[in-house]
Amino acid sequence: MKRNPGEPEFHQAVHEVVETLIPFILSNRVYKDAQILERMTEPDRVVIFRVCWEDDAGNIRTNRAWRVQFNNSIGPYKGGIRFHPNVTLSVLKFLGFEQTFKNSLTGLPMGGGKGGSNFNPKGKSDREIMRFCQSLMIELHRHIGEDTDVPAGDIGVGSREISYMFGQYKRLENRFSGILTGKGLSFGGSLVRTEATGYGCAYFCENMLNHIEDSLVDKICSISGSGNVALYAVEKAIELGAKVVTLSDSDGFVHVPNGINLEMLAFVKELKTVRRGRIHEFANHYKGVDFYAGKRPWNVPCDIAFPCATQNEINRADSQELINNGVKAVVEGANMPTNLDGIHEFRHAKVILAPAKAANAGGVAVSGLEQSQNALRLSWSREEVDQRLKSIMLEIHSKCVQHSHKYEDYTDYITGANIAGFKKVADAMLAYGIV
Ligand code: NDP
Repeated sequence: MKRNPGEPEFHQAVHEVVETLIPFILSNRVYKDAQILERMTEPDRVVIFRVCWEDDAGNIRTNRAWRVQFNNSIGPYKGGIRFHPNVTLSVLKFLGFEQTFKNSLTGLPMGGGKGGSNFNPKGKSDREIMRFCQSLMIELHRHIGEDTDVPAGDIGVGSREISYMFGQYKRLENRFSGILTGKGLSFGGSLVRTEATGYGCAYFCENMLNHIEDSLVDKICSISGSGNVALYAVEKAIELGAKVVTLSDSDGFVHVPNGINLEMLAFVKELKTVRRGRIHEFANHYKGVDFYAGKRPWNVPCDIAFPCATQNEINRADSQELINNGVKAVVEGANMPTNLDGIHEFRHAKVILAPAKAANAGGVAVSGLEQSQNALRLSWSREEVDQRLKSIMLEIHSKCVQHSHKYEDYTDYITGANIAGFKKVADAMLAYGIV
């Protein structure tokens, strides 16, 4: 706390990890004696820089950007770039810290990092987005590289922004190399990268349900968000037999009592990714779909909740409402969507909770596969990438179960993910000595 004043999100992320890791560390003195946890909570470095750009009216605008290079013990830094007005150093440190554990869980050689800017892309023209991305890369290009740090997308950063940044990097460095992931297919992107985080969440959920001899078939799912993660979680959940009844954005949520069908999903994809519209337009377009302004979808009865929008979108009251309505599992598509009170409520009620580190690791895993394809200068087929994604999610599930506390009828996936993610990074740090 004293070391990081004014960083509530970072404190929260560390707290969640520490409360499950302490017993493990105390029973493995080698980690305690080498102060591995203390060292892991300090980023290797943080770069902070000004981004100046010109809007369409000719005004000069100034934003702040950061790259947090958290830990590269097991591979080059890897983690997304977020554009959102609420981005702060605290938010990026929480994301970079979590990313270190997540990347370790994938089994791929990737360290943890995160970056972003307090730039608000909403309402900006394509040209303004391009100028902002190009200006940001003028500084960022000095700090990234295929063996150093490989950023990707996150909230507010999709294929359009990655393409502008990649184009600028190439111009500045005169090199074509895989320094960003989530690229377009014609210039080094991987098939299934767009879908990977959402698909991975649904695969992880299916693995969790299979573990208790159940499945997604006929399960009612409530999903928040309507961005990259949410849309593909919906798609895969439907394919696996579930009925998805909600979606949201920062204006409110839509309730579709009969379930979202594929035609509706195609409509929302076009609405959100091409027209960049608002979720209430979905309710205007379809009869029997209701829009609830300013609300999150957690009062809608469901079997499975998939929070896929942003951090802290499920608090104690939301978790109690979900529990009272009979929720069986929570699968975190977003990073840290459940606050600490919410986690404690779910654990107490024995609702199985797939933490973000495990459940949404599919995105970065396929980013890792994109790096491999770039290094080999070849492209794998959709089936091959999807099969690898499925295997990685299954493997992450096994690691979580293996390291979770053994309760008779309940798997604590949070503890399992934290211990499994920690161990690999910690062992590498031990091997390096005091660095
Ligand atoms: P997008 O920008 O594509 O979508 C974000 C969605 O969440 C939008 O519907 C957005 O609504 C909503 N949202 C964002 N901020 C808020 C807020 N403060 N309150 C309510 N709704 C909000 O982002 P992604 O889908 O890529 O990311 C979603 C989450 O998943 C994030 O936590 C991200 O870190 C995490 N994640 C993403 C990965 C990826 O591969 N993209 C990988 C792993 C994790 P609106 O349009 O109104 O802002």
